Amino acid sequence: MEYGAVLAAAPLVARPNWLLLSPPPLAPSIQIQNRLYSISSFPLKAGPVRACRALASNYTRQTSETVDLDWENLGFGIVQTDYMYIAKCGTDGNFSEGEMVPFGPIALSPSSGVLNYGQGLFEGLKAYKKTDGSILLFRPEENAERMRTGAERMCMPAPSVEQFIDAVKQTVLANKRWIPPTGKGSLYIRPLLMGSGAVLGLAPAPEYTFIIFVSPVGNYFKEGLAPINLIVEDKFHRATPGGTGGVKTIGNYASVLMAQKIAKEKGYSDVLYLDAVHKKYLEEVSSCNVFVVKDNVISTPAIKGTILPGITRKSIIDVALSKGFQVEERLVSVDELLDADEVFCTGTAVVVSPVGSITYQGKRVEYGHQGVGVVSQQLYTSLTSLQMGQTEDWMGWTVQLN
Ligand SMILES: *Cc1c(COP(=O)(O)O)cnc(C)c1O
Repeated sequence: MEYGAVLAAAPLVARPNWLLLSPPPLAPSIQIQNRLYSISSFPLKAGPVRACRALASNYTRQTSETVDLDWENLGFGIVQTDYMYIAKCGTDGNFSEGEMVPFGPIALSPSSGVLNYGQGLFEGLKAYKKTDGSILLFRPEENAERMRTGAERMCMPAPSVEQFIDAVKQTVLANKRWIPPTGKGSLYIRPLLMGSGAVLGLAPAPEYTFIIFVSPVGNYFKEGLAPINLIVEDKFHRATPGGTGGVKTIGNYASVLMAQKIAKEKGYSDVLYLDAVHKKYLEEVSSCNVFVVKDNVISTPAIKGTILPGITRKSIIDVALSKGFQVEERLVSVDELLDADEVFCTGTAVVVSPVGSITYQGKRVEYGHQGVGVVSQQLYTSLTSLQMGQTEDWMGWTVQLN
């Protein structure tokens, strides 16, 4: 019975061999076993035990509204869901239509471009469930366009904006029961674009794979909504002029793990990077942008190629302007940071995260007596109520799925 259910959940089109864990099967029964293997024994890293139980019965409970997960204690760990989207692109530069397949491991050539030379990009966006059951995406066309810009920089073909958005919608709807109930979190959507074709000498890969998987998430930082503590890094840098800091390429992230690890060992939440030339101006945190507030004027480092152009950053700027704040995109020195009234970070994962303290060269500065600054709070409320559909979408930023 369970096998039948798995078959029913599989797409009707022929499945490409490279999706299977082992070489092409000799008999259909082996293929079924392979698929079951890939679904049920892929390690569930951070998910609670109850998620495992929900997972085992994925294909027999397709109709249930939501999975049985510990929604109160969602963090930012990977919880595997039912389906993922896959499309491929050969040398002609056109992506295949793409299909939904059960979530699981993929086969890659050991000489693929992504494994050997880091030819890869990712994106991140979220879906929220409203109390009436409708599902909202936030500015997905921005992610689609950013992936296209990044792909150009990394010499990769990219899906069209339409295909990207359509693929995101399909993936969210197929995994609908994993979207946390209103107020408990969101469904984090992770599009990936990689050079999956084989190369040996350094060159763009001859084939590309576009994948989207999703995971229910709660708060990014373990502090939750409490202010985070950052350390300003003056030895390591995440980006240099002319480099790839401005695109979401995978290599930018492994390179910051060392600084992040050292910071976390000392009790900090994350690292704030300075520019690599003067070692004086703020850039951003490992995976979020930074803002400082002084006398009600909001400032953030300008986008000049070394900072990731965050969609949350851009949205916060527009929300702040619409509320009458003065907003400046410019060079922001570390001295200004230490003298600020409030500091906060923005990103899809962290949303708006207030900064409680900054440590720079052994000196610690605290903001708002460890509280959440008035401006940060106001912007947080405006943006999140818009994203979650709690207020009218006066910016026209949300896309309703159902
Ligand atoms: C993704 C990311 C951000 C935030 O971008 P959003 O579009 O707001 O999610 C900021 N900095 C870095 C380095 C990032 O990778």
